[in-house]
Amino acid sequence: MAIQRVTGKKLGTIVEPAREIDVIHETDVLVVGSGPAGLSAALAAARAGVSVTLVERFGCFGGNITTVGVEGMAWYRHEQTVEANGIGREFETRAASMGAAVPESQSQSFELDAEGFKVVADVLVQEAGIHPMLHRSFVAPIMDGNAVVGIITESKAGREALLAKRVIDATGDADVAHRAGAPTFLAPRENLMASSVMFHIAGVDKKKFIEGVASDPQTYKDWAGNGEWSIETSGKEDDMFSPFLHKPFKAALDAGLIPADLTTIAGTWGAVHDSGEMTYMNLIHLAGLDGTDPDDLTTGEIEGRRQAMHALAALKAYTPGCEDARLRNFGMTLGVRDTRKVDSVYNMTEHDVREQARFEDSIGIYPEFIDGYGILILPTTGRYMHMPYRNLLPKGVRNLLVAGRSSGGDRVAHAATRNMACCAVLGQGAGIAAAQSLHQGCELEDVSIGAVHKELARQGVRYQ
Ligand SMILES: Cc1cc2nc3c(=O)[nH]c(=O)nc-3n(C[C@H](O)[C@H](O)[C@H](O)COP(=O)(O)OP(=O)(O)OC[C@H]3O[C@@H](n4cnc5c(N)ncnc54)[C@H](O)[C@@H]3O)c2cc1C
Repeated sequence: MAIQRVTGKKLGTIVEPAREIDVIHETDVLVVGSGPAGLSAALAAARAGVSVTLVERFGCFGGNITTVGVEGMAWYRHEQTVEANGIGREFETRAASMGAAVPESQSQSFELDAEGFKVVADVLVQEAGIHPMLHRSFVAPIMDGNAVVGIITESKAGREALLAKRVIDATGDADVAHRAGAPTFLAPRENLMASSVMFHIAGVDKKKFIEGVASDPQTYKDWAGNGEWSIETSGKEDDMFSPFLHKPFKAALDAGLIPADLTTIAGTWGAVHDSGEMTYMNLIHLAGLDGTDPDDLTTGEIEGRRQAMHALAALKAYTPGCEDARLRNFGMTLGVRDTRKVDSVYNMTEHDVREQARFEDSIGIYPEFIDGYGILILPTTGRYMHMPYRNLLPKGVRNLLVAGRSSGGDRVAHAATRNMACCAVLGQGAGIAAAQSLHQGCELEDVSIGAVHKELARQGVRYQ
């Protein structure tokens, strides 16, 4: 369906006068953005013995986990899956021990609780002695030549300056790298992965719902043939169970219960709780939106909520156990999968993620899990790749590392590296490297990989 985009028109320009602003804080390592990449980076750097500040525009840490409601940290994990472990795995185990995760339905992993993880992240940040700065948006880098030496934030307190010896851009959109002048790439909006309004529902009869799932189990091959849900697998995934929902929406379309143009509603549910809550309803797919354009974000929020209410009506009418369901909450913000990528010293390739790349400067391994752009490969065989340190280094800008979903790579590489556990690997590597460069008194590009490996091993990360 073509989405009606809200668009703004440029009416002219004004000159913003120069002004003096207060420097309010100094730190060794400044991490901007607190998703799986940023939170891991901040924790790793702090545990490696430097002072760390974590800046986040929203009121909680966790990024897509807590603000969008993405709860499947490792839904790819099967018996033979080989992983880095490290902080990504710690998110699951810590959340489980704090009552903020339940076993996930299709894998040997935990489904995080988006709300509970806000508290888990607070505790992790406080335990590590990280200086927390919520409710501050990065708006501009402070440059000394081509080196980033701090950032300017905007908040209710106005504009403020924070100084740092090293900066890690974990905004997901490469905001810092882009504004610092590093080369970045943004595909045309029609080629970007769809955005999603995520929602959670309450009032589900769990027993009846699970019986319904058991009587008509869906598999990954059921994703095929559903418009944008068509996928290429390696074959071995096809008959495996998937918590996939498509039939209720097809039935609602056929019955005229939901508008005929809403043909892309389909996707997965995450966890269904004894309390009747069903979370991580990943059913709404909004194509053609650019997550760096606030007009597109506005369009996506409004259109996504509209579609979600139709999806709920279809679930109530055609899904056993959902008859009395009601909306519990939407994610705090639209879920954006795909925006700017930085041009790194090494950009990951499709060959790397499909053929178990090996690098001497590995900062962590990641299993052969590809999910995106119509491809689904699950790591059921023990195959894995290395993630290289050079992938964190943007070209042309000093003192800056970029970790997370904006890291450099081609489309298919991104379908692997965008996943939260891989973002955590990149973040942990970035935090450790930033700390090591300070311990060694050297530039980020000159950091000793041997020292990074030693600290990765100390922090429990498998990198070979
Ligand atoms: C709907 C949806 C479903 C998904 N499902 C899965 C899944 O099941 N499993 C999986 O592994 N992955 C999934 N993904 C992908 C995954 O969530 C992301 O790729 C991943 O969270 C990226 O991690 P990150 O740390 O790079 O960025 P993010 O999680 O996006 O975190 C970035 C953080 O930076 C903050 N920030 C951004 N700009 C600024 C700024 N200017 N100033 C201050 N702070 C800023 C943001 O508020 C946010 O907290 C999904 C994504 C979406 C949208």
